[in-house]
Amino acid sequence: YFALNRKQFGPPGEPEQSIMDYPTHQKKLMPLIANAYAYDFAHNHLLREYTSDANHDAQEMEALAAGLKALSTWNTTATIQTCREACGGKGYLSEMYFDLLKADSDIFTTFEGDNTVLLQLTAKSRLTYFRKQFGKMDWWDTLKYISSIASTNLSELNPLITRDTSEDHLLDDDFLLSAFSYREEYSLRSLAMRLSKKIKNGMDSYEAFLQVQVHLIDMASAYIDRIVLERFIATIDEQENKSVKEILTSLKNLYALHRIEENKGWYLEHDYISGSKSLAINKLVQKLCKELKEESQHLVDAFDIPKHMTETALKFY
Ligand SMILES: Cc1cc2nc3c(=O)[nH]c(=O)nc-3n(C[C@H](O)[C@H](O)[C@H](O)COP(=O)(O)OP(=O)(O)OC[C@H]3O[C@@H](n4cnc5c(N)ncnc54)[C@H](O)[C@@H]3O)c2cc1C
Repeated sequence: YFALNRKQFGPPGEPEQSIMDYPTHQKKLMPLIANAYAYDFAHNHLLREYTSDANHDAQEMEALAAGLKALSTWNTTATIQTCREACGGKGYLSEMYFDLLKADSDIFTTFEGDNTVLLQLTAKSRLTYFRKQFGKMDWWDTLKYISSIASTNLSELNPLITRDTSEDHLLDDDFLLSAFSYREEYSLRSLAMRLSKKIKNGMDSYEAFLQVQVHLIDMASAYIDRIVLERFIATIDEQENKSVKEILTSLKNLYALHRIEENKGWYLEHDYISGSKSLAINKLVQKLCKELKEESQHLVDAFDIPKHMTETALKFY
Protein backbone atom coordinates (compact mmCIF):
# COMPACT_ATOMS: atom_id res chain seq x y z
CA TYR A 1 0.00 0.00 0.00
CA PHE A 2 2.80 2.35 0.91
CA ALA A 3 4.86 1.58 -2.20
CA LEU A 4 1.95 2.11 -4.58
CA ASN A 5 1.10 5.50 -3.08
CA ARG A 6 4.44 6.97 -2.08
CA LYS A 7 5.95 9.16 -4.81
CA GLN A 8 9.63 10.06 -5.05
CA PHE A 9 11.70 11.62 -7.84
CA GLY A 10 10.83 11.40 -11.51
CA PRO A 11 11.98 12.63 -14.91
CA PRO A 12 13.18 16.31 -14.95
CA GLY A 13 10.20 18.66 -15.05
CA GLU A 14 7.71 15.81 -14.72
CA PRO A 15 5.61 14.76 -11.71
CA GLU A 16 7.19 12.41 -9.21
CA GLN A 17 6.56 8.72 -9.76
CA SER A 18 5.28 5.97 -7.50
CA ILE A 19 8.20 4.15 -5.85
CA MET A 20 6.60 0.88 -6.99
CA ASP A 21 7.56 1.91 -10.55
CA TYR A 22 11.22 1.52 -9.63
CA PRO A 23 12.62 -1.86 -10.77
CA THR A 24 14.60 -2.15 -7.51
CA HIS A 25 11.37 -1.85 -5.53
CA GLN A 26 9.61 -4.41 -7.74
CA LYS A 27 12.51 -6.82 -7.33
CA LYS A 28 12.49 -6.31 -3.56
CA LEU A 29 8.78 -6.85 -3.03
CA MET A 30 7.26 -9.01 -5.75
CA PRO A 31 9.26 -12.23 -5.08
CA LEU A 32 8.27 -11.91 -1.42
CA ILE A 33 4.59 -11.81 -2.37
CA ALA A 34 5.16 -14.92 -4.51
CA ASN A 35 6.90 -16.63 -1.58
CA ALA A 36 3.99 -15.81 0.75
CA TYR A 37 1.57 -17.57 -1.60
CA ALA A 38 3.95 -20.49 -2.15
CA TYR A 39 4.47 -21.21 1.56
CA ASP A 40 0.79 -20.72 2.33
CA PHE A 41 -0.22 -23.37 -0.23
CA ALA A 42 2.42 -25.75 1.11
CA HIS A 43 1.22 -25.25 4.69
CA ASN A 44 -2.37 -25.90 3.62
CA HIS A 45 -1.22 -29.14 2.03
CA LEU A 46 0.63 -30.22 5.17
CA LEU A 47 -2.40 -29.47 7.33
CA ARG A 48 -4.74 -31.35 4.99
CA GLU A 49 -2.45 -34.38 4.85
CA TYR A 50 -2.02 -34.39 8.61
CA THR A 51 -5.70 -34.12 9.44
CA SER A 52 -7.22 -36.18 6.64
CA ASP A 53 -5.17 -39.36 6.88
CA ALA A 54 -4.78 -41.00 10.29
CA ASN A 55 -2.32 -43.49 8.74
CA HIS A 56 0.05 -40.86 7.38
CA ASP A 57 3.76 -41.60 7.57
CA ALA A 58 4.59 -39.84 10.86
CA GLN A 59 8.30 -39.51 10.10
CA GLU A 60 7.68 -37.98 6.68
CA MET A 61 5.11 -35.56 8.14
CA GLU A 62 7.50 -34.51 10.89
CA ALA A 63 10.31 -33.96 8.38
CA LEU A 64 8.09 -31.89 6.14
CA ALA A 65 6.69 -29.82 9.03
CA ALA A 66 10.19 -29.17 10.39
CA GLY A 67 11.61 -28.12 7.02
CA LEU A 68 8.63 -25.97 6.08
CA LYS A 69 8.71 -24.26 9.45
CA ALA A 70 12.39 -23.40 8.96
CA LEU A 71 12.15 -22.01 5.43
CA SER A 72 8.89 -20.15 5.95
CA THR A 73 9.88 -18.48 9.22
CA TRP A 74 13.21 -17.38 7.74
CA ASN A 75 11.21 -16.00 4.83
CA THR A 76 8.87 -14.15 7.21
CA THR A 77 11.73 -12.52 9.07
CA ALA A 78 13.41 -11.45 5.82
CA THR A 79 10.09 -10.19 4.42
CA ILE A 80 9.36 -7.98 7.41
CA GLN A 81 12.84 -6.45 7.28
CA THR A 82 12.60 -5.81 3.52
CA CYS A 83 9.13 -4.26 3.89
CA ARG A 84 10.36 -2.06 6.73
CA GLU A 85 13.18 -0.74 4.53
CA ALA A 86 10.82 -0.39 1.56
CA CYS A 87 8.80 2.10 3.62
CA GLY A 88 11.93 4.18 4.24
CA GLY A 89 12.05 6.19 7.47
CA LYS A 90 8.26 5.87 7.85
CA GLY A 91 8.75 2.15 8.24
CA TYR A 92 10.54 2.88 11.51
CA LEU A 93 7.45 4.48 13.07
CA SER A 94 5.51 2.36 15.55
CA GLU A 95 2.31 3.30 13.75
CA MET A 96 3.47 1.19 10.81
CA TYR A 97 3.44 -1.94 13.04
CA PHE A 98 6.80 -3.33 11.87
CA ASP A 99 8.14 -3.30 15.41
CA LEU A 100 5.21 -5.44 16.58
CA LEU A 101 5.45 -7.76 13.59
CA LYS A 102 9.19 -8.17 14.14
CA ALA A 103 8.82 -8.82 17.85
CA ASP A 104 6.08 -11.37 17.19
CA SER A 105 7.65 -13.25 14.32
CA ASP A 106 11.39 -13.13 15.01
CA ILE A 107 11.36 -15.84 17.67
CA PHE A 108 9.65 -18.29 15.30
CA THR A 109 13.07 -18.99 13.78
CA THR A 110 14.17 -20.35 17.16
CA PHE A 111 11.31 -21.65 19.26
CA GLU A 112 9.47 -24.87 18.49
CA GLY A 113 12.97 -25.91 17.38
CA ASP A 114 15.85 -23.83 16.06
CA ASN A 115 15.68 -23.73 12.25
CA THR A 116 19.18 -25.09 11.67
CA VAL A 117 18.52 -27.99 14.01
CA LEU A 118 15.11 -28.67 12.41
CA LEU A 119 16.58 -28.78 8.90
CA GLN A 120 19.02 -31.44 10.09
CA LEU A 121 16.06 -33.48 11.26
CA THR A 122 14.51 -33.09 7.80
CA ALA A 123 17.78 -34.08 6.12
CA LYS A 124 18.22 -37.18 8.27
CA SER A 125 14.70 -38.28 7.47
CA ARG A 126 15.42 -37.92 3.74
CA LEU A 127 18.58 -39.99 4.15
CA THR A 128 16.59 -42.71 5.94
CA TYR A 129 14.10 -42.70 3.08
CA PHE A 130 16.98 -43.01 0.59
CA ARG A 131 18.51 -45.92 2.55
CA LYS A 132 15.14 -47.69 2.70
CA GLN A 133 14.77 -47.33 -1.07
CA PHE A 134 18.23 -48.75 -1.63
CA GLY A 135 17.89 -51.38 1.09
CA LYS A 136 14.85 -52.86 -0.67
CA MET A 137 16.55 -53.07 -4.06
CA ASP A 138 18.20 -56.17 -5.47
CA TRP A 139 21.20 -55.78 -7.78
CA TRP A 140 18.97 -55.57 -10.86
CA ASP A 141 16.79 -52.77 -9.38
CA THR A 142 19.90 -50.95 -8.22
CA LEU A 143 21.40 -51.16 -11.69
CA LYS A 144 18.15 -49.87 -13.22
CA TYR A 145 18.02 -47.05 -10.67
CA ILE A 146 21.60 -46.00 -11.35
CA SER A 147 21.11 -46.13 -15.11
CA SER A 148 17.89 -44.07 -14.82
CA ILE A 149 19.79 -41.42 -12.88
CA ALA A 150 22.58 -41.51 -15.45
CA SER A 151 20.16 -41.06 -18.33
CA THR A 152 18.33 -38.24 -16.50
CA ASN A 153 21.66 -36.53 -15.98
CA LEU A 154 22.61 -36.99 -19.60
CA SER A 155 19.33 -35.58 -20.92
CA GLU A 156 19.17 -32.70 -18.44
CA LEU A 157 22.81 -31.79 -18.90
CA ASN A 158 22.46 -31.86 -22.65
CA PRO A 159 24.16 -28.60 -23.84
CA LEU A 160 21.09 -27.71 -25.87
CA ILE A 161 19.04 -27.66 -22.66
CA THR A 162 21.62 -26.11 -20.35
CA ARG A 163 21.92 -23.22 -22.84
CA ASP A 164 18.23 -22.89 -23.75
CA THR A 165 17.30 -19.31 -22.87
CA SER A 166 13.88 -19.17 -24.55
CA GLU A 167 11.00 -17.92 -22.42
CA ASP A 168 8.83 -20.90 -23.36
CA HIS A 169 11.42 -23.24 -21.92
CA LEU A 170 12.14 -21.17 -18.80
CA LEU A 171 8.43 -20.91 -17.99
CA ASP A 172 7.72 -24.57 -18.64
CA ASP A 173 6.76 -26.55 -15.52
CA ASP A 174 8.85 -29.46 -16.81
CA PHE A 175 11.98 -27.31 -16.71
CA LEU A 176 11.13 -25.75 -13.33
CA LEU A 177 10.31 -29.08 -11.68
CA SER A 178 13.36 -30.77 -13.21
CA ALA A 179 15.62 -28.00 -11.94
CA PHE A 180 14.23 -28.29 -8.40
CA SER A 181 14.26 -32.12 -8.40
CA TYR A 182 17.77 -32.27 -9.83
CA ARG A 183 19.18 -30.09 -7.05
CA GLU A 184 17.38 -32.17 -4.44
CA GLU A 185 18.29 -35.59 -5.85
CA TYR A 186 21.88 -34.68 -6.60
CA SER A 187 22.38 -33.36 -3.05
CA LEU A 188 20.68 -36.39 -1.50
CA ARG A 189 22.64 -38.92 -3.52
CA SER A 190 26.01 -37.26 -3.08
CA LEU A 191 25.41 -36.91 0.67
CA ALA A 192 24.39 -40.56 1.01
CA MET A 193 27.49 -41.67 -0.93
CA ARG A 194 29.83 -39.45 1.07
CA LEU A 195 28.41 -40.54 4.40
CA SER A 196 28.52 -44.24 3.58
CA LYS A 197 32.14 -43.89 2.36
CA LYS A 198 33.21 -42.14 5.56
CA ILE A 199 31.47 -44.69 7.76
CA LYS A 200 32.83 -47.64 5.72
CA ASN A 201 36.32 -46.16 6.19
CA GLY A 202 35.86 -46.39 9.95
CA MET A 203 34.69 -42.88 10.89
CA ASP A 204 32.04 -42.85 13.63
CA SER A 205 28.66 -41.63 12.43
CA TYR A 206 28.62 -38.51 14.67
CA GLU A 207 31.86 -37.24 13.13
CA ALA A 208 30.72 -38.22 9.61
CA PHE A 209 27.50 -36.21 10.02
CA LEU A 210 29.44 -33.22 11.37
CA GLN A 211 31.68 -33.22 8.31
CA VAL A 212 28.69 -32.95 5.96
CA GLN A 213 26.53 -30.73 8.20
CA VAL A 214 26.45 -27.71 5.88
CA HIS A 215 25.40 -29.95 2.98
CA LEU A 216 22.64 -31.49 5.09
CA ILE A 217 21.02 -28.07 5.43
CA ASP A 218 21.30 -27.42 1.68
CA MET A 219 19.79 -30.79 0.85
CA ALA A 220 16.86 -30.31 3.25
CA SER A 221 16.19 -26.86 1.76
CA ALA A 222 16.23 -28.31 -1.75
CA TYR A 223 13.71 -30.97 -0.66
CA ILE A 224 11.35 -28.36 0.82
CA ASP A 225 11.72 -26.14 -2.27
CA ARG A 226 10.64 -29.04 -4.48
CA ILE A 227 7.60 -29.82 -2.32
CA VAL A 228 6.60 -26.13 -2.23
CA LEU A 229 6.79 -25.87 -6.02
CA GLU A 230 4.79 -29.09 -6.50
CA ARG A 231 2.08 -27.82 -4.14
CA PHE A 232 1.97 -24.47 -5.96
CA ILE A 233 1.40 -26.27 -9.26
CA ALA A 234 -1.23 -28.57 -7.69
CA THR A 235 -3.07 -25.58 -6.21
CA ILE A 236 -3.18 -23.89 -9.62
CA ASP A 237 -4.60 -27.10 -11.12
CA GLU A 238 -7.42 -27.02 -8.56
CA GLN A 239 -8.55 -23.51 -9.59
CA GLU A 240 -11.53 -23.15 -11.88
CA ASN A 241 -11.44 -19.40 -12.46
CA LYS A 242 -9.32 -18.66 -15.54
CA SER A 243 -7.95 -15.31 -14.38
CA VAL A 244 -7.06 -16.70 -10.94
CA LYS A 245 -5.23 -19.53 -12.70
CA GLU A 246 -3.34 -17.04 -14.87
CA ILE A 247 -2.18 -14.80 -12.07
CA LEU A 248 -1.22 -17.74 -9.85
CA THR A 249 0.76 -19.20 -12.75
CA SER A 250 2.76 -15.97 -13.07
CA LEU A 251 3.34 -15.96 -9.32
CA LYS A 252 4.44 -19.59 -9.41
CA ASN A 253 6.88 -18.80 -12.23
CA LEU A 254 8.26 -15.91 -10.23
CA TYR A 255 8.60 -18.05 -7.09
CA ALA A 256 10.40 -20.82 -8.98
CA LEU A 257 12.70 -18.69 -11.15
CA HIS A 258 13.61 -16.44 -8.25
CA ARG A 259 14.52 -19.52 -6.19
CA ILE A 260 16.72 -20.75 -9.05
CA GLU A 261 18.25 -17.28 -9.24
CA GLU A 262 18.99 -17.38 -5.51
CA ASN A 263 20.69 -20.75 -6.00
CA LYS A 264 22.37 -19.92 -9.28
CA GLY A 265 25.80 -20.55 -7.77
CA TRP A 266 24.85 -24.18 -7.26
CA TYR A 267 23.33 -24.56 -10.72
CA LEU A 268 26.35 -22.97 -12.39
CA GLU A 269 28.83 -25.02 -10.33
CA HIS A 270 27.03 -28.20 -11.37
CA ASP A 271 26.76 -27.18 -15.04
CA TYR A 272 22.98 -27.41 -14.87
CA ILE A 273 22.64 -23.99 -16.50
CA SER A 274 25.07 -22.01 -18.63
CA GLY A 275 26.08 -18.42 -17.83
CA SER A 276 23.78 -17.12 -20.56
CA LYS A 277 20.83 -19.13 -19.19
CA SER A 278 21.52 -17.72 -15.72
CA LEU A 279 21.42 -14.19 -17.18
CA ALA A 280 18.18 -14.98 -19.03
CA ILE A 281 16.66 -16.14 -15.74
CA ASN A 282 17.67 -12.89 -13.98
CA LYS A 283 16.07 -10.93 -16.81
CA LEU A 284 12.88 -12.95 -16.76
CA VAL A 285 12.56 -12.57 -12.97
CA GLN A 286 12.73 -8.80 -13.40
CA LYS A 287 10.16 -8.93 -16.21
CA LEU A 288 7.76 -11.00 -14.08
CA CYS A 289 8.22 -8.58 -11.18
CA LYS A 290 7.24 -5.70 -13.45
CA GLU A 291 4.21 -7.50 -14.89
CA LEU A 292 2.97 -8.69 -11.51
CA LYS A 293 3.37 -5.24 -10.02
CA GLU A 294 0.15 -4.33 -11.85
CA GLU A 295 -1.66 -6.91 -9.69
CA SER A 296 0.21 -6.22 -6.47
CA GLN A 297 -2.71 -4.40 -4.82
CA HIS A 298 -5.09 -7.34 -5.44
CA LEU A 299 -2.51 -9.90 -4.43
CA VAL A 300 -1.99 -8.17 -1.09
CA ASP A 301 -5.73 -7.42 -0.61
CA ALA A 302 -6.22 -11.18 -0.61
CA PHE A 303 -4.22 -11.39 2.64
CA ASP A 304 -7.15 -9.58 4.29
CA ILE A 305 -4.90 -7.24 6.25
CA PRO A 306 -6.98 -5.31 8.81
CA LYS A 307 -8.08 -1.97 7.44
CA HIS A 308 -6.62 0.07 10.28
CA MET A 309 -3.15 -1.19 9.30
CA THR A 310 -3.43 -0.39 5.61
CA GLU A 311 -4.94 3.01 6.37
CA THR A 312 -1.93 3.85 8.51
CA ALA A 313 0.38 3.06 5.60
CA LEU A 314 -1.61 5.46 3.44
CA LYS A 315 -1.52 8.18 6.08
CA PHE A 316 2.26 8.35 5.96
CA TYR A 317 3.09 8.19 2.28
C1 LIG B 1 10.08 -16.93 23.76
C2 LIG B 1 10.45 -18.37 23.86
C3 LIG B 1 9.46 -19.30 24.18
C4 LIG B 1 9.77 -20.65 24.32
N1 LIG B 1 8.78 -21.55 24.63
C5 LIG B 1 9.09 -22.84 24.85
C6 LIG B 1 8.09 -23.76 25.29
O1 LIG B 1 6.92 -23.40 25.45
N2 LIG B 1 8.45 -25.05 25.50
C7 LIG B 1 9.73 -25.47 25.32
O2 LIG B 1 10.01 -26.65 25.53
N3 LIG B 1 10.70 -24.62 24.90
C8 LIG B 1 10.43 -23.32 24.68
N4 LIG B 1 11.41 -22.45 24.27
C9 LIG B 1 12.78 -22.93 24.08
C10 LIG B 1 13.11 -23.07 22.59
O3 LIG B 1 12.50 -24.22 22.05
C11 LIG B 1 14.64 -23.11 22.44
O4 LIG B 1 15.10 -21.79 22.70
C12 LIG B 1 15.09 -23.58 21.06
O5 LIG B 1 14.80 -24.94 20.86
C13 LIG B 1 16.59 -23.35 20.84
O6 LIG B 1 17.33 -23.91 21.88
P1 LIG B 1 18.38 -23.03 22.69
O7 LIG B 1 17.75 -21.75 23.10
O8 LIG B 1 18.95 -23.89 23.75
O9 LIG B 1 19.49 -22.65 21.62
P2 LIG B 1 20.84 -23.40 21.35
O10 LIG B 1 20.54 -24.86 21.16
O11 LIG B 1 21.84 -23.02 22.35
O12 LIG B 1 21.22 -22.76 19.94
C14 LIG B 1 22.09 -21.63 19.79
C15 LIG B 1 22.64 -21.61 18.38
O13 LIG B 1 23.41 -22.80 18.17
C16 LIG B 1 23.00 -23.45 17.00
N5 LIG B 1 22.97 -24.91 17.24
C17 LIG B 1 22.55 -25.57 18.35
N6 LIG B 1 22.62 -26.89 18.17
C18 LIG B 1 23.09 -27.10 16.93
C19 LIG B 1 23.39 -28.25 16.16
N7 LIG B 1 23.17 -29.49 16.60
N8 LIG B 1 23.86 -28.09 14.92
C20 LIG B 1 24.06 -26.85 14.42
N9 LIG B 1 23.81 -25.72 15.10
C21 LIG B 1 23.32 -25.83 16.33
C22 LIG B 1 21.58 -22.98 16.71
O14 LIG B 1 21.35 -22.96 15.31
C23 LIG B 1 21.56 -21.58 17.30
O15 LIG B 1 21.95 -20.65 16.31
C24 LIG B 1 11.10 -21.09 24.12
C25 LIG B 1 12.11 -20.13 23.79
C26 LIG B 1 11.78 -18.81 23.67
C27 LIG B 1 12.89 -17.82 23.35
